[in-house]
Amino acid sequence: MTDGQALTGRVLRGINTIYDVATDAGTLRCLIKGKVLKTGSRDYNPIAPGDVVSIEPDPATPGTGKITSLAARRTTLARWNRKGKASQVLAANADLAVCVTSTRSPPFRPRFIDRLAAAAEDGGLEVLILLNKCDLECGEDDLDRLDDFRRIGYRVHRCSAATGSGIHWLARFLKGKTAVFVGQSGVGKSSVLNALSPGLGLRVGDLSARYDRGSHTTTNAALFVTPGGLEVIDTPGIRELLLAGIELHDLAFRFREFAPFAAKCGVAVCLHEDEDGCAVREAAEKGKVHPDRYESYLRVLAELRESGRFSHG
Ligand code: GDP
Ligand code: ZN
Repeated sequence: MTDGQALTGRVLRGINTIYDVATDAGTLRCLIKGKVLKTGSRDYNPIAPGDVVSIEPDPATPGTGKITSLAARRTTLARWNRKGKASQVLAANADLAVCVTSTRSPPFRPRFIDRLAAAAEDGGLEVLILLNKCDLECGEDDLDRLDDFRRIGYRVHRCSAATGSGIHWLARFLKGKTAVFVGQSGVGKSSVLNALSPGLGLRVGDLSARYDRGSHTTTNAALFVTPGGLEVIDTPGIRELLLAGIELHDLAFRFREFAPFAAKCGVAVCLHEDEDGCAVREAAEKGKVHPDRYESYLRVLAELRESGRFSHG
């Protein structure tokens, strides 16, 4: 390898300021060169798993290099990092967000799905809602709510990492896509990923050891390419998914079922709260949109407004 010969690679993971990048010349451990990527970005992390970057290998230290530039992202899945007070890109260039939920322990949380779906819509990703632990009994109300996500056009699939039910279908569905897995702690995300690819060996169950120690390194996502050819980005278990970077007037259009009603209210006029004649609120009152999802919308709107995190500026 000659000095300065540039390589292109995909970021697998970043820990503090060190990134593992997969290239044709193997995986290189890289730092960001100078301030090239820092200017103009207020993000929590300038580079995320799935990013495509240019690298200058360091001939003096084999296996290492410097990241010199970042390619434009096709998609992003971002959330608000409360501790870092900044937008955090969990995954770049993924095709699909897999929202892992469970029938119980922890209980089914439709509002979490609403939020993830909005973040995925905003970042250009397809959504799959995956109900894990289907070996355990699921309440009728929860199943109805899950059906409602189907009604509004999301794909819903049930599986059990414990019994293996639904895992083959999932593996087939993921083929050829890069999928980012997101879920609340304990839903069985690691178990599902291990069931998809036993070689991954992700740790199951000991949540406190993995994520709750406040260490910087544990808040990061990682891209895995499995021997079976699946590309998955695993993210840390998330307790509450806060949204970031969505303009207030765009938010209703990130809630898929609201869009036709929101369009009637007039763009940039109505935020669909208590405005006179608001078509979205009326639809919620008449049950044409799910009232609980309307509540999700109002909460996210209030959060975005209060924190001022609705614009990237
Ligand atoms: P994560 O925090 O989402 O990564 O969840 P884990 O994969 O660590 O699993 C949390 C707990 O749920 C563990 O005790 C698992 O054994 C259990 N679990 C995971 N998948 C299933 C499943 O399909 N059925 C049942 N009954 N338990 C599961
Ligand atoms: Zn309105």
